[in-house]
Amino acid sequence: MILVTGGAGFIGSNFVLDWLAGSDEAVVNVDKLTYAGNLRNLDAVRSHAGHVFVQADIGDTAVISQLLQQHRPRAVLNFAAESHVDRSITGPAAFIETNVLGTFRLLEAVREYWSALPEAERAAFRFLHVSTDEVYGTLSAQDPAFTETKAYEPNSPYSASKAASDHLVRAWHHTYGLPVLTTNCSNNYGPFHFPEKLIPLMIVNALAGKPLPVYGDGMQVRDWLFVKDHCSAIRRVLEAGVTGETYNVGGWNEMPNIEIVRRVCALLDELRPRADGVSYATQLTYVKDRPGHDRRYAIDARKIERELGWKPAETFDTGIRKTVEWYLANGEWLADVQSGGYRDWVSTQYGQA
Ligand code: NAD
Repeated sequence: MILVTGGAGFIGSNFVLDWLAGSDEAVVNVDKLTYAGNLRNLDAVRSHAGHVFVQADIGDTAVISQLLQQHRPRAVLNFAAESHVDRSITGPAAFIETNVLGTFRLLEAVREYWSALPEAERAAFRFLHVSTDEVYGTLSAQDPAFTETKAYEPNSPYSASKAASDHLVRAWHHTYGLPVLTTNCSNNYGPFHFPEKLIPLMIVNALAGKPLPVYGDGMQVRDWLFVKDHCSAIRRVLEAGVTGETYNVGGWNEMPNIEIVRRVCALLDELRPRADGVSYATQLTYVKDRPGHDRRYAIDARKIERELGWKPAETFDTGIRKTVEWYLANGEWLADVQSGGYRDWVSTQYGQA
């Protein structure tokens, strides 16, 4: 049995689906179901005997402790977080509450459970914390990619809150001996991605005939990884990672945002051409840049490749094609997601929903 937090979100739900498809080991899935949590992501495992869903906050120590006692997991994987940088700028409090205090309270509940386990189970137990490359700060074009020893220099309320959570996880290992693992991954894309994030937002707006808002000059560079590859990296780290270590996870796919948008438009032009035959790229609109927008992130993933033998299965070309195809085939999911609070949020950002 493993316990996953945030398993109704983008990456967490992909992880739960992949886990149950490839293993007989059951999953307790704890998610608060914020605007970003969506049980429809888990439709495929709704009646799966190995999937137990519990709506709860990672900061609710009583509930988390009770679940740990009841299900006695051999590992806890923490995906739960407030994850959207723009939201962290307009409303940082929720980020401190969940990412910092929530992680702290989760660590304490897990520590209490873990320290009372019999010796062999204690030794085998793992707490895996899912984090981001954004904790490392920003790079210039000439800088080397982030390695695991790069100093933390978070610039947004989101990345600062994730950095704080990483530090707590580290400290719970060094101080209390909790067997932790941390992964710092680059930008994910793929199925079930909430359409406030760049790639699904572009697909949704393109199909709706709306402008495709690109921040600033669109030359912000990110590394992109297909979400299933992130999930396989997490499984590999859980299986073979050395406790107390951190592992960078990336796809060796550095690309400026504007190039991402152009690729999405080209795929849509091919797979679902506009009725008037004009390219979706004509909907592209530059908008005022995000305050403090980091210029470049790049991940050096050689440690996980060398030490754990992990490699992504998808290239950007194959992954982005699968992603666009998935959104085109899942209009019902999209309509469902868009009917929620997301619409209000997008209208405050871009004057459209
Ligand atoms: P997401 O916003 O799609 O999902 C987060 C999930 O956590 C949601 O289901 C939400 O309901 C749940 N949640 C939020 N607060 C909670 C709380 N207090 N208690 C319980 N559940 C709560 O995010 P995501 O993109 O799936 O990211 C998952 C994790 O991976 C996050 O920790 C994020 O920082 C990290 N990460 C994301 C990316 C990316 O590109 N999306 C890249 C690297 C790392």
